[in-house]
Amino acid sequence: MSELVIKNLHVSIDGKEILKGLDLTVEQGKIHAIMGPNGTGKSTLAYTLMGHPSYEVTEGEVWFKGENVLELEADERSRLGLFLAFQYPVAIPGVTVANFLRTAINSRRRAENPDDKGISIPEFRKLLKEKMDLLKMDHNFAGRYLNDGFSGGEKKRAEILQMATLKPEIAILDETDSGLDIDALRIVADGVNALTGSDLGVLVITHYQRLLNYIKPDYVHIMLGGRIVESGGPELALHLEEQGYDWVREKYDETVA
Ligand code: ADP
Ligand code: MG
Repeated sequence: MSELVIKNLHVSIDGKEILKGLDLTVEQGKIHAIMGPNGTGKSTLAYTLMGHPSYEVTEGEVWFKGENVLELEADERSRLGLFLAFQYPVAIPGVTVANFLRTAINSRRRAENPDDKGISIPEFRKLLKEKMDLLKMDHNFAGRYLNDGFSGGEKKRAEILQMATLKPEIAILDETDSGLDIDALRIVADGVNALTGSDLGVLVITHYQRLLNYIKPDYVHIMLGGRIVESGGPELALHLEEQGYDWVREKYDETVA
């Protein structure tokens, strides 16, 4: 089983340190949720894992399948089996959801075996149908042009379908800044629930407590001041819902400042 191992990660933006020694391991088959108040560095973690050039890693390591993830380009991370949910083209004129998915699958197959001839059309159709049925999606969706006039919920549907067909070992979903309405949250949650339990490991980064009413994480982590300060089971999310973050700030603010 693969795991994503983040060790002592320090990240700066414009010379200002945002992540200050973050440690986390996400195993295949488990759902981890990171929660934390605004400004603690949740999106910074997501963008760093995605390989965004503005985020400078000053210390620490990220390992996956024996590779130092921080040295890989974003598309190499994806071919290795890491799925980063915001790594999407904005809108590609003339490219349908189905074409986009087939290209992505073939790119991943060729990364594993350079001689791979690509997925055949009948095989791809079968896979797509199977995944769309699993996710309770209308088959017409695959014929739509990618992101062209998509609602927030449809963008999420495309992401989840991509996750289902690409079969990554670890998916990182940043639901922090996306302004999700409740329908879009449900699409993400239903998709994650349909896909986990198999080999998929998920790291959900979220500001919204309510997302965790739909996704049942195995582990919940609280982030504060650029580090993970508390880790526990689902009960930690319930505790946050009842108590908010004040107790966390009181306990750690002085030590993480
Ligand atoms: P969160 O997602 O937990 O709300 P962020 O990772 O977005 O937190 O931000 C963490 C800190 O980094 C905040 O203090 C924010 O102001 C700062 N920050 C985020 N992005 C930038 C940026 N592009 N330039 C400068 N500072 C930034
Ligand atoms: Mg954010």
